[in-house]
Amino acid sequence: APRKLIAGNWKMHGRASSLAVLETLVDKHLDPACDVLVCPPATLIARLAGRGVDIGGQDCHWEELGAHTGDIAAEMLADAGAKAVILGHSERRADHGETDAMVARKTLAAWRAGLVAVVCVGETEAERDAGQTLASIAAQLAGSIPEEATAENLVIAYEPVWAIGTGRTPTLAQIGEVHDFIRESLETRFGNGAARGIRLLYGGSVKPGNAAEIFGVDNVDGALVGGASLKAEDFGAIIAAA
Ligand code: 13P
Repeated sequence: APRKLIAGNWKMHGRASSLAVLETLVDKHLDPACDVLVCPPATLIARLAGRGVDIGGQDCHWEELGAHTGDIAAEMLADAGAKAVILGHSERRADHGETDAMVARKTLAAWRAGLVAVVCVGETEAERDAGQTLASIAAQLAGSIPEEATAENLVIAYEPVWAIGTGRTPTLAQIGEVHDFIRESLETRFGNGAARGIRLLYGGSVKPGNAAEIFGVDNVDGALVGGASLKAEDFGAIIAAA
């Protein structure tokens, strides 16, 4: 199994308290048995990069430059010190109308800039209730992930939309079903070599109290953590559980 990755998605949080979180992790001489990535708002990337924890963005445009007011190019994230970028988060898909095709273009841009793409997929509650979870995931994988994917340039985060920020999580069997399905889909498309190395993160209400059991599920290679990544103690406990 690949080395685990614990990624924190700070979303639109991180004013006074944010530096304290990262400094606490760095000051603990964090030398975890897993990889750690922190994705703060873009304004904090340059400030937090190069301090011992990998830093990532939360979105990028697909173009390298141009008349795109308010957008950030993948190259600019890299210039600021980012090593990765989250793409296609359900909040971007919902709030900004991002489609699978747009996510695929952004993923190519991330690779063009030398960034690891952390591509998010996940079903809505209505899709799960309708028995369409795997069909929804399959469509997102097919539409969002370009052919050039490798174990080094791609991480996939499975985030059921209904589990994000709600305190509700799927059962371990439900998480396992989706992760096994994603792994099989990747093997079919990219062959065993690349597919086995691509890390599959679970995201949605991961906390110190449920992290260890989730990490015990086959084909779960880490977590994408929202709220709990804003508290050094909680994020540290999740890292320790990996
Ligand atoms: P929560 O951990 O706050 O549920 O958020 C998950 C998420 O959306 C991470 O990208």
